[in-house]
Amino acid sequence: MSIGTGVSSNLLFMIAFILLAVSLGFAIPIGISASHRGMNAVGWGILAFFTWIAGLVLFLLHLQPVVTDMPCPFCGHLIPIHHVFCPFCGHRD
Ligand SMILES: [Zn+2]
Repeated sequence: MSIGTGVSSNLLFMIAFILLAVSLGFAIPIGISASHRGMNAVGWGILAFFTWIAGLVLFLLHLQPVVTDMPCPFCGHLIPIHHVFCPFCGHRD
């Protein structure tokens, strides 16, 4: 029966591996996409890891636009979101 046991444990291992790969396949792109949008990357990643397509649908429903530049409230120039000071007029956000 050692062959049968070996086959079934290999099969279980393969299934576990595929499930893990699919989970990561949902979690990683959603996490990266969330971080680009100023959303909770870890939270969305974990949610997608466990819920797969349901997490993806939920993520798409809550999708925020990609945040890269914000207009300076003082001079109106577009400045990268991570800048603390406006490089054009020195206004502090
Ligand atoms: Zn400015």
